[in-house]
Amino acid sequence: MGSGASKKQLQETPRGRSEIRNFSTSQSSACYDETSSGRELGHSKVEEDEIQEEIERMAQRFNRTGDYFNDDSLAVSNTAQPDEVSLAFESFLHKDGTLYTCFTQNGIRLYFDEEKGLVPFPQELYSQGRFINIQNWLSGSSDSVENAAVPGPSYMDNERTSGCYLPGKGMVMTYIFEERTNVCKYFDNNSGAWLILPLQWEINLDFIKYRVQQVKEALPAITDYKEIAAALRQCNYNPDEVISIFLAIFGDSLESSAEGETFEETFIHSDLFEKDSKIESLNHKLQEREREMENLHVRCRCLQEENHRLTHMTQFLHARVAEIEAERESALERIKALQDTPPPPPLPPAPAPMPIRPKQPFEPQKLWRLSRAARDLNISNQQLKATVSLNLSEFGRYISKLGSVILELKDFELGSTKEMEELRTLYKREALERKLLYNQLQELRGNIRVFCRCCPDSHSLMLVEFPSDDQIIVNQNGKKKFQFDRVFAPHCTQEDVFDGTLPIIKSCVDGYNICILAYGQTGSGKTYTMMGTEDKPGVNIRSIRELLRICQEREKIKYTTKISMLEIYNETIKDLLSKNPSEPLEIRTHGKSVTVPGLTEIEVSTEADIKDTITLGEKNRTVASTKMNTESSRSHLMVMLHVNGIDNISGVASYGTLTLCDLAGSERISKTEATGQRLVEAAAINKSLTSLGQVFTALKNNTLHVPYRNSKLTHLLQPSLSGNAKACVFVNVSTDAQNLGETLSSLQFGSSIQQVALGKAPQNIGQAKPEK
Ligand code: ADP
Repeated sequence: MGSGASKKQLQETPRGRSEIRNFSTSQSSACYDETSSGRELGHSKVEEDEIQEEIERMAQRFNRTGDYFNDDSLAVSNTAQPDEVSLAFESFLHKDGTLYTCFTQNGIRLYFDEEKGLVPFPQELYSQGRFINIQNWLSGSSDSVENAAVPGPSYMDNERTSGCYLPGKGMVMTYIFEERTNVCKYFDNNSGAWLILPLQWEINLDFIKYRVQQVKEALPAITDYKEIAAALRQCNYNPDEVISIFLAIFGDSLESSAEGETFEETFIHSDLFEKDSKIESLNHKLQEREREMENLHVRCRCLQEENHRLTHMTQFLHARVAEIEAERESALERIKALQDTPPPPPLPPAPAPMPIRPKQPFEPQKLWRLSRAARDLNISNQQLKATVSLNLSEFGRYISKLGSVILELKDFELGSTKEMEELRTLYKREALERKLLYNQLQELRGNIRVFCRCCPDSHSLMLVEFPSDDQIIVNQNGKKKFQFDRVFAPHCTQEDVFDGTLPIIKSCVDGYNICILAYGQTGSGKTYTMMGTEDKPGVNIRSIRELLRICQEREKIKYTTKISMLEIYNETIKDLLSKNPSEPLEIRTHGKSVTVPGLTEIEVSTEADIKDTITLGEKNRTVASTKMNTESSRSHLMVMLHVNGIDNISGVASYGTLTLCDLAGSERISKTEATGQRLVEAAAINKSLTSLGQVFTALKNNTLHVPYRNSKLTHLLQPSLSGNAKACVFVNVSTDAQNLGETLSSLQFGSSIQQVALGKAPQNIGQAKPEK
């Protein structure tokens, strides 16, 4: 690449220069002007070429060793530059939407390549895109979108365009078409056609919400939002016409009613309440049914035991009867044998004179007694048989009765099981609806909430003012006012700060991805906000503790909670809970899921577990940073809590993650520091924070492509910054006079995110812009 060509290009695009954070417009006067670099330092063309070759060689060396910039020789040219002048980064937008962050050093334009590290900007790319003013581009101002081939964010910025979630279809793009009367349609991917959006979903669009709210404000007595929406449809979405019609129908009485929350919130609150009581009564019913079933089971068991006992007894009696029968038979046979015995034959005369034995006399008495005994036996046998058969038939009746009772019980059990199944389905549906309603409520309040927190500094409090709990004014060349969802003044406690995040955090146990980020310069209180101290724990410990508490409270759902902790340093991911934290990990994407294979997950169930795990991660981080001679403020820290739940009643499973992210310091580095490791760190941090800004911009504009993959940080945050996820961003600022530039820049960044707040009425969004 010839340096002449790059120089020419550089001079043609002075507008494309931006500060390291790319969100500040007020800093350009402090920028290092790259047109004065290179030849003005006194290098000849040959020298320049040599320097460039040397840089390329060193860049290759750096790629191999990772230590290129520790070479002091590279810092030589910087000594010629004034101290404390910030390094200028430029943003080059490729036609394919890729954004390159470049900076110029020794007259050579370099950029940070994820694989190769710092390398000269390739000449062939100049014709494939252009340098842009990132601030204008992010805010969608038209002058930054000259080239139609380069997608800019503003083409979608139209109040007719919106999106909403349809069951079975996911997020769909909607557009209010102007026809004879306006009709709101959504684009159906399956049929490839624009279809009319059902009223139920139409009401969620900002365009409609704003108008419904207008009607509601004029006529507070009309509480049915659907009625208002339907009337709007009929009146070509003209709120004035709707108001006139309602007034014409119902009269002036409509104009007075109690003011309260916004109508959507009231509606959702009452619906939530209704769902809660429905779920409660279903729970009661289920418990009753379960008790009844238990009783039935006990009764059934008793009856079966009785049946068993009786069957045994019958068998025993049968055996006895058989025994007696056999005895009788044998007795009869014996009698018969006695009766049939013939008299013994006469003995032959004895040869010798032997005494003659007298012949046994016949005993008719004995025979008679035997015959009598046999008759008695026969009679008692007959009686016994009669008794046994009587008992047996009674048992039989009893057993058949028992059988029919058991059958009846089984039928009843079947009916109860069916009823219980129905109750379970109903419970499942109610629980799901409740979850969706809670989510809707959170969405109405904004899916991305931005809080500002001021670090205490007793010396310079005069520089900032807090006119209300959602505004901050910075006094510098006049008053600059910024508005956020909440502004935490220096006196606010860790509890106050945590309370602000609580409603969003709670969604995690319902299976939503939640993310909390702390943005700001080093020393502005990010770590204090996220980690806190031993006696004043920050959002990390408190939110994980709260989630564990909610999980334990929900007896019907079995939860498992696991923590992972990682660090992103120079676009490299390190597992802080691993035995070998220095081993880099890679990101893998499957459809919408983003995973880091090999990342350690530790199960936690008590507060002690959380503290032990986080302490282990922090210890590993300190050891790693000491080894590499880096500061922890130069890397992004992520603590992730994975919450898996299975509803014992409905069997429904849920999976949500809470990502807590302490971002690297957002400050610009000064020219004197712009060498070696510091420069590589700064380029990596600039790249990831710029990517974060781009992601928020794309979300704000509802663009089809959100550039999550431009940095490891945004890639990892993708599940927490897309779909139904919810995010909370803390803009941490210092009130120190020395840091005023950084403070303004951070507030500006916060303002640009504030505009991403989905579900806000358009007029609210405008308020986030700083006023002079
Ligand atoms: P960062 O993480 O942005 O570099 P730190 O959180 O480390 O900044 O804060 C720097 C110092 O200021 C720490 O000593 C911290 O305890 C203190 N600090 C920051 N914010 C507050 C606050 N709101 N209240 C009390 N001390 C604070």
